Amino acid sequence: MNWEPWTGCYKASDGCTNCYFYGPHAKRYGQNTIQKTDKFDWPIRKNTKGEYNIKGNKILATCFATDFFLPEADEWRKEVWAIIKERTDIEFLILTKRIDRFLVSLPADWGTGYDNVNIGCTVENQKSADYRLPLFLSYPIKRRFIACAPLLEEIDLTPYLHGVDHVTVGGETGREARECDYNWVLHIREQCMKANTTFWFKNTGSLFKRNGIVEKINPFKQNSMAKELGIDISDGKRLF
Ligand code: SF4
Repeated sequence: MNWEPWTGCYKASDGCTNCYFYGPHAKRYGQNTIQKTDKFDWPIRKNTKGEYNIKGNKILATCFATDFFLPEADEWRKEVWAIIKERTDIEFLILTKRIDRFLVSLPADWGTGYDNVNIGCTVENQKSADYRLPLFLSYPIKRRFIACAPLLEEIDLTPYLHGVDHVTVGGETGREARECDYNWVLHIREQCMKANTTFWFKNTGSLFKRNGIVEKINPFKQNSMAKELGIDISDGKRLF
């Protein structure tokens, strides 16, 4: 399930170039004006019986079609933290390319982090990993994951995997997609094995290179093909 309290976004780094929500070929999916959606307070809305519309024991992917830490949302984020705090029975997954703004609008009672918040730092290349991940690890967060998506080159995550619960990897999707090399994926998997971190190869992307051959992958097959390669490392719990 996804919860998008606001919509709109703009480029933060190289990984955004072909963003399928706000990139040059994505006009029909989104727009760049950042505004609240009509789902802003969705997790705490109740029905006539006074029960929450969204039942508990769920994972809510939060701001997967925008960025949770956009400066334009600083005021709204305060309210959203309060909503998240109220729904301790829901796990909120927050993915961001703007982890350097994590401390802005953090609630006063955050402490070492809320138990029901899992923050994912996106890195697409070594440069973004070397800038974002030391910051990510320095912040008080109870549960962390790294999303290498879209994976644009070989990345060495080794110095950053301590304190990270999980790594997800995915190639770039869309007409202008850049190549994703399976060797880069396998290399990250190897790093995760050594660090005892779970790993999920989410999707191949549209241009997938394997055994020296670059193949165009149909958008509907990118997830299933990644799964069929059978390289995920699970600890028995649900992968994202
Ligand atoms: S941060 Fe995410 S949603 Fe925003 S432009 Fe970049 S890829 Fe798109």
